[in-house]
Amino acid sequence: MSEDIRRKIEELTAAVKYHSDRYYNMDEPEIEDYEYDRLMRELIALEEQYPMYADPDSPTKKVGGKSSEMFAPVVHAVRMESLQDAFSHEEVEDFGGRVNAAVHGVKYVVEPKIDGLSVSLEYENGVFVRGSTRGDGDTGEDITANLKTIKAIPLRLKESLEFIEVRGEVYMPRGVFFKLVEQQELNEEKPFKNPRNAAAGSLRQKNPKITAERNLSIFIFNIQQIRGKELRSHKESLDYLRTLGFTTVPFYYQCDTIADSLEKIEEIGNNRGGLSFDIDGAVVKVDNFAQRQVLGSTAKFPKWAIAYKYPPEEKETKLLDIEINVGRTGVLTPTGIFEPVTLAGTSVSRATLHNQDFISEKDIRIGDTVIIRKAGDIIPEVLSVKEHGEDTVPYLMPKTCPSCGAKVFREEGEAAVRCTNPECPAQLLRVLIHFCSRDAMDIEGLGPAILGLFVEKGIIKTPNDIYSITKEEIAELEGLGEKSADNLTAAIEKSKSSDLSRLIYALGIRHIGQKAGKLLAAKFGDMDSLMEASAEEISSIDGFGEIMAQSAENFFSLPQSRELIASLKESGVNMKSENVQKGNIFEGKTFVLTGTLPTLKRAEATAIIESLGGKASSSVSKKTDYVLAGEDAGSKLRKANELGITVITEEEFLAMAENAEK
Ligand code: NAD
Repeated sequence: MSEDIRRKIEELTAAVKYHSDRYYNMDEPEIEDYEYDRLMRELIALEEQYPMYADPDSPTKKVGGKSSEMFAPVVHAVRMESLQDAFSHEEVEDFGGRVNAAVHGVKYVVEPKIDGLSVSLEYENGVFVRGSTRGDGDTGEDITANLKTIKAIPLRLKESLEFIEVRGEVYMPRGVFFKLVEQQELNEEKPFKNPRNAAAGSLRQKNPKITAERNLSIFIFNIQQIRGKELRSHKESLDYLRTLGFTTVPFYYQCDTIADSLEKIEEIGNNRGGLSFDIDGAVVKVDNFAQRQVLGSTAKFPKWAIAYKYPPEEKETKLLDIEINVGRTGVLTPTGIFEPVTLAGTSVSRATLHNQDFISEKDIRIGDTVIIRKAGDIIPEVLSVKEHGEDTVPYLMPKTCPSCGAKVFREEGEAAVRCTNPECPAQLLRVLIHFCSRDAMDIEGLGPAILGLFVEKGIIKTPNDIYSITKEEIAELEGLGEKSADNLTAAIEKSKSSDLSRLIYALGIRHIGQKAGKLLAAKFGDMDSLMEASAEEISSIDGFGEIMAQSAENFFSLPQSRELIASLKESGVNMKSENVQKGNIFEGKTFVLTGTLPTLKRAEATAIIESLGGKASSSVSKKTDYVLAGEDAGSKLRKANELGITVITEEEFLAMAENAEK
């Protein structure tokens, strides 16, 4: 029995550690928050009952994640604490009981719990000097440059206060998230799971430009430290923060009792669907600072606050129909159409049913009563079938494409069903959208709506037709005038000189993403050489697998691909790359860059490595061949020395590269 418990604790500890790492450090969770919370609760309960089996390094005693080596560490002068969770009204009432036992005449503040990423911002004499992530609560990551790109963060306060450190939650507004995911899906990139994840992934970026493009925002909810001003309560501090120019939590309620607080919690929960940002709960806080002092903190969270987490909502509804959409690569995706129901405050009437396997496993049939759920995630899902409808039959994906009528097929080992017709109009539009997108040929102004009109009118039948659209044809389109026509023709013309890597990516070859496009362009230099390359030759590129190489070879051997490329060439589209691999002296070699190099920027050093066939990696391991170290090199250099990896200076590196080019 005790052995079983010990093993159970061990298993739960490992699972919680694994999922924390994916969530906090990799920004790529695998399970829903409420599933994670369930594991955590089970572990806490078992550890309380059997403390002798608790792992000394248990995740129940820790806050958040660890700091990435990508950023300089910031030691927090005031610990960035977590919050105690409550999943029921009783737990909030118990919290109230504990508070009232310690202090009297308490007033509470109830505010939304923003689902984003916790950061600290420091200001000296009113000027923003440093911003950091929470990390493990004691040490976070210096992300000042990235935070400076967020418009809602004032760089200078309205008062030149001696010193203030505030805490806030960086989030991605829902509208921004939806657009980003749409773009990622078009590019066949793995989309972010939810706005929280997208915010974390966008903020913990080495390149602040990417953060800037992601339109993040922030709500400030606490003063961590302040010099030069006395404040007595949370409400007072929120008001003061606003006068300084901060955007504070958008609304809050003052309550005299826990019963009132619970009412407000429910009110916030019912209205959360109408907000432009995600919340995952509501926080009840003791308002008065002197009372907070008396209540104190545990190792992990303050005893003067509690976070109520809204349970994932499940509802019953009827599946009215299954709609099939055809994607760029011909994949048929089934979407369930339901009788609308309200979940987490929004009306839901559609949810993806993924593929045939998902449908068959749950035996989902048109006419069924199904249970749908929406957790913290804003994307609803079908959980199960409650009851089959009368006279229903198992659902089978169509045998022909709903857009063009061509036969569809399913590759072995794949869940997806595909349309086989390369001229399918549904696919054509997707192909064109991808071709013109920012990371591909980057034709500004030629978005889905206008492309849709051109396809409808039969003006564009292949990507090459874009290059023969006339100004008149554009100007005739609804809502477009002469000025737009001028801009669009200029953008089309400009795209002709795009680098070969963009064109390769724009062709939408299966398994060939942006990075693979760059590698192919660097290796082969021009389209003709690439078209003649065998899968074997292609797979010799570091970073290429067999499936990718085979897919490229298949694509270039198709007559319609060759025809398209020939026509693009005739239209004057550039078929050469600027970043050609100049040699292969670094082939199979992995470099790690660390510290500040005397003359080269990191991107420049990486370009040299890649142009000579090598690979740049971000972490040092046994597989690393060279560590290129500059000034202030830290832990990576230490690790390299420990592992006995060759450390070189910029001068040595440049000499190696120069020899190779001779
Ligand atoms: P928490 O998110 O439950 O609460 C603390 C955080 O709330 C603080 O960091 C703070 O930044 C934030 N917050 C937002 N609005 C606030 C406000 N108005 N006032 C005060 N604080 C506010 O605790 P945590 O330790 O940061 O993270 C646990 C959360 O992460 C849970 O929701 C858990 O489900 C999720 N998680 C999920 C996975 C997964 O695999 N899905 C893994 C790990 C953690």
